[in-house]
Amino acid sequence: MGGTFNPIHYGHLLCAEQARCKFGMDEVVFVPSGHPPHKKNSDIAPTEHRYLMTVLAIYTNPFFSVSRAEVDRRGKSYSIDTIRHFLEINKSRNPELYFITGSDAVMEILTWRSHDEIMDLATVIAASRPGYDFNRLKEAVGPARFRKLKLLQASALAISSTDIRERVRSGRPIKYLLPESVEQYIRKHGLYTNPA
Ligand code: ATP
Ligand code: MG
Repeated sequence: MGGTFNPIHYGHLLCAEQARCKFGMDEVVFVPSGHPPHKKNSDIAPTEHRYLMTVLAIYTNPFFSVSRAEVDRRGKSYSIDTIRHFLEINKSRNPELYFITGSDAVMEILTWRSHDEIMDLATVIAASRPGYDFNRLKEAVGPARFRKLKLLQASALAISSTDIRERVRSGRPIKYLLPESVEQYIRKHGLYTNPA
């Protein structure tokens, strides 16, 4: 599961766990992005902070781990490179690879580098996310690509990192939107307190 994880929250964790259970995965690897090509740079916490918050968030789940693949890669992060990387390092196991994404992210799939190759190499899971319905997704990607997606009706959590950052900035609570350890990390390092 890739993401900016700026910061990671319960929407990500729940979606990953429900995908793991529904599709019988052996493990879920969280891949914080290094230099996301789609995101404005100004509002992104330093990569090491996002990586460490992801580690803090997942450590209680024995099926979850975090990869530094994109964190350590120079230049922009492209999902296709990460997918090739995971296929390569696991090739002796002949892995079946899933790419877990929220339906908002899949809506933009046509803008991703090598999107059709991504869909050939991995099974792309589109998890429901409040505000994005699967019909709109079908229109956005077209019926042929839509048929290749696996849909996951995740328990709805209307949580986003954008909202969490805005809450921190304006002094509103973020408790119960993300793990306590991540909240403490944000407070300790004074993340998301500068104007966006
Ligand atoms: P931002 O608001 O900064 O874009 P975000 O909450 O969307 O942050 P990302 O790091 O952009 O988080 O998302 C990583 C992946 O997790 C994406 O595929 C996204 O669709 C998915 N995702 C994020 N939040 C949820 C949620 N509440 N429910 C389901 N999927 C989610
Ligand atoms: Mg997002």
